[in-house]
Amino acid sequence: MERTMISRISDPALLGTTVEVKGWVRTRRGNKHVQFVALNDGSTIKNLQIVFDMTRFTDEQLKPITTGASLRVVGKLVESMGKGQTCEVQADEVEVYGTADPLAYPLQKKGHSLEFLREIAHLRPRTNTFGAVLRIRSALAFAIHRFFNERGFVYLNTPLITSSDAEGAGAMFQVTTLDLNNLPRTDEGRTDYSADFFGKQAALTVSGQLEGELGATALGAIYTFGPTFRAENSNTPRHLAEFWMIEPEVAFLDINGNMDLAEDFVKYCISYALQNCRDDIEFLAEMYDKELVSRLEFVTHNDFVRLTYTEGVRILEESGHKFEFPVYWGADLQSEHERYLVEEHFKKPVILTDYPAEIKAFYMKQNEDGRTVRAMDVLFPRIGEIIGGSEREENYDKLLRRIEELHIPMKDMWWYLDTRRFGTVPHSGFGLGFERLVLFVTGMTNIRDVIPFPRTPNNCEF
Ligand code: ATP
Ligand code: MN
Repeated sequence: MERTMISRISDPALLGTTVEVKGWVRTRRGNKHVQFVALNDGSTIKNLQIVFDMTRFTDEQLKPITTGASLRVVGKLVESMGKGQTCEVQADEVEVYGTADPLAYPLQKKGHSLEFLREIAHLRPRTNTFGAVLRIRSALAFAIHRFFNERGFVYLNTPLITSSDAEGAGAMFQVTTLDLNNLPRTDEGRTDYSADFFGKQAALTVSGQLEGELGATALGAIYTFGPTFRAENSNTPRHLAEFWMIEPEVAFLDINGNMDLAEDFVKYCISYALQNCRDDIEFLAEMYDKELVSRLEFVTHNDFVRLTYTEGVRILEESGHKFEFPVYWGADLQSEHERYLVEEHFKKPVILTDYPAEIKAFYMKQNEDGRTVRAMDVLFPRIGEIIGGSEREENYDKLLRRIEELHIPMKDMWWYLDTRRFGTVPHSGFGLGFERLVLFVTGMTNIRDVIPFPRTPNNCEF
């Protein structure tokens, strides 16, 4: 007999047939005549009700069936009289794979706090909330690949271990096989990395962009989708030490095309989730955030506002609002500033462009004014920055001058400069933090709750 996933159980063709289902017990209740078990197999937020007619089963048989136990059940699928479900299984046969001692299993009752669940991150996927979040996360990953695939982008895998620290996007985790208790030394007394695994200093990547540009200037349009690491000691609800980033990079695309791409992309992903994860989104809306569905629909149905950093700063200065961090032309905008523009002023997602060169990376295309660059950050309600990108400086001399001004060592840069030396083209790209998108779509408020195994300062369980 073939097992039926609970997500398929409402298929009308199955009604009246005998089915086999497998899953974990969420609850059991009933009386001496009839027992009801709510079974969940992870394929859907919906539990399947299993009905045990106690004239056909003994108390002894059902004793191991407690919350958390794993079962196989065979029985007839019938319409349900009870409310909250359309069908249920009348059990003919039951097999317990594994018990879960009620005195030890921590997920006995519903309604554990998210903080508590973070402490039992190894079991939290078994809760309704994390089941919903992880299914939505998976659907979004699929939507991302589909979006780029439909548009002819090549999926490029950039390295996770890198010997270049030029990106400057954040502090890096060093990768080494040297004995930290007995480091080899050069004559000047510094660590001798020539004795290290790669013969030089290496680290985990903070971004695949620079390598992505190598791909875009050969394949036309590429995207990366992979893990990214930042050793920043920022304990915020929006930062992880290990997160996933999607980085498209496109030849012959200017900043306006880049903004269109970014806007189409996030709208596509959100629409995909609305269409394909309805039950999970509605569950999360009910539990945590009543406005979730309308917020998601609003974002997919409205144009994002586009304005320059300079205009944005003027709005903030004239707002009369008291910010924790001061705002002035040249300041790196904080989340509170970004969210003021999005949530209070425009009440729409915002794309800010043309930031001061000093607060942005060396590779961004320099504007004529000599002080701003063609950067674009997409700012979202509740999140702040969800995407950071730019048109890239394609002019060899201008790029070289910027690299020299910032004293970026040539040993890190020669290969990157070659893209401008041989057949350079205007090109653009951006980075979307995957978990920030999942945060927005699920309505969760802490980034630790949208990745299965969060890594943050002082937190690296299993
Ligand atoms: P922020 O200012 O929020 O720290 P950033 O400007 O350092 O972000 P970028 O270098 O532009 O970020 O990275 C591109 C995207 O990656 C960001 O827009 C964000 O969505 C995401 N991101 C950056 N850092 C993190 C992090 N530590 N954890 C999760 N996502 C991140
Ligand atoms: Mn950024």
